[in-house]
Amino acid sequence: MAKYIFVTGGVTSSLGKGIIAASLAKLLQARGLKVTIQKFDPYINVDPGTLNPYEHGECFVTEDGAETDLDLGHYERFLNIFTSQANNVTTGRIYQTVINKEREGAYLGKTVQVVPHITDEIKRRMLHLGQTGEFDIVITEIGGTVGDIESLPFVEAVRQLQWELPEEDTLVVHLTLIPYLKAAKELKTKPTQHSVRMLSQEGVHPDIIVCRTERTLTPELRRKIALFCNVKMEAVIEAADAPTIYEVPLAMMREQLDIISLKKLNITEYREPELARWKEFLDKLKYPKDKVAIGLIGKYIELQDAYKSILESFVHAGAMNECQVQIINVHSEFITDENVSEKLAGLDGLLVAPGFGHRGVEGKIVAVKYARENKMPFFGICLGMQMAVIEFARNVLGLKDAHSTEMNPDTKNPVIDLMDEQKKITAKGGTMRLGSYPCEIKEGTLAHSIYGKTSITERHRHRWEFNNSYLEQFEKAGMMASGKNPGTNLVEIVELPNHPFFIGVQYHPELKSTVENPQPVFVHFVKAAREYAERKDDVKSPVLQGESA
Ligand code: GLN
Repeated sequence: MAKYIFVTGGVTSSLGKGIIAASLAKLLQARGLKVTIQKFDPYINVDPGTLNPYEHGECFVTEDGAETDLDLGHYERFLNIFTSQANNVTTGRIYQTVINKEREGAYLGKTVQVVPHITDEIKRRMLHLGQTGEFDIVITEIGGTVGDIESLPFVEAVRQLQWELPEEDTLVVHLTLIPYLKAAKELKTKPTQHSVRMLSQEGVHPDIIVCRTERTLTPELRRKIALFCNVKMEAVIEAADAPTIYEVPLAMMREQLDIISLKKLNITEYREPELARWKEFLDKLKYPKDKVAIGLIGKYIELQDAYKSILESFVHAGAMNECQVQIINVHSEFITDENVSEKLAGLDGLLVAPGFGHRGVEGKIVAVKYARENKMPFFGICLGMQMAVIEFARNVLGLKDAHSTEMNPDTKNPVIDLMDEQKKITAKGGTMRLGSYPCEIKEGTLAHSIYGKTSITERHRHRWEFNNSYLEQFEKAGMMASGKNPGTNLVEIVELPNHPFFIGVQYHPELKSTVENPQPVFVHFVKAAREYAERKDDVKSPVLQGESA
């Protein structure tokens, strides 16, 4: 039987519950336990697939094609495991199940209510992964902040489970904020006391309090938090701001979050943590030997969460290359023929991001042209790959009006067209070509040298595809399809053999990059950018400013 850890959050959102949950999971995994993490989100959308990235950041797609919260990306990157549809549950999905059952008559005439029907369905899903026999520990992250109306049924379900299960089978970790008041030069514990009290009023008492803080917690402060929140001193954990999220597991280990959790869960069989590969990665990340500047061409660049997995993939690939990757965000809407060289000249590589809809696509096409003509390393993902195809059609094949029917349904040259299977679909949410599909790679191509094999699988999220009636024309002119779906011939990878590094992929390689298994296209792209930086004679523009990945 599995044991259950619940992670709640107090005081404010965005404290990094996902990272704390993933860090605890990593430590328990490193000690030899089989761990998974799931996220319960309190919103009414059935899944985040229909949410605009500005609302909720990137939509993370699992192997089995579930559109999920971006925290699942952290879970996979930390734990090096696959999650699935079962790992992300929303209030919308819970209600959908209960309402469908009601319509089927499953409640036999009873009045269907939040308690017990909604809470029973929440509990069923909270326990589900633990009942598969695959895991020793299931960590459940409860989205939202304690005290929100929406998260009440989730907290009530945790309360009931704590009552129903043996004492040693559940553990509640409450993540909170200890703000520093500059004027008073003091860390303040009152908001934490209030949020723990609120949680207690809802019937759940935390076993461990993890305190996000900018300053070190003094022993007196720890004592105060312990006393007023009614936990043991050792169960007050300091989570100071870290230079990278990948430091957090080690910081949590120093605070003994894992040991205290194991003690409460009465787990006595565990080993010393095996974190050699993790630490090796961190060393490489912290002490890079080189630096490259990669342009991220997208339309959601104001919100970094929109490209979370891409940014993290660069962290993994950068460490692998012992090279710091500086990401320069370039808004695709503002790139034009006139300003493109000014905007992109100082870069060492260009990534054209995934996306939907018309906004910003012409700028993306201009950026692709620049990379193709200047032999700058280019990597296009999903929409980015489709833009590379359109650019080639327009500027090399001379099909001036070439486009995707997503942006121009009336184009005479629909080089990117809606997939047949999509033509009948009108419903949104879970209806794209989603999840893992196989791809066969041609020998001797760039893709082959990157992956080192001819059969791969990668994850997808799209409705449009390369229009195969143009393939011969493209290949004659020098853009080849180096990877295809073996069953349907859908073009998965395009590349330019006469360019040092130019690759576009219909799938989302960023969804499978982990600390221990950096994604190979990213690794080779960073390597190519490094080589390009060495080759190019022009000095890098000193005015470039950007985020460090
Ligand atoms: N909008 C494009 C399609 O649906 C690309 C999707 C994406 O970039 N994820 O095919």
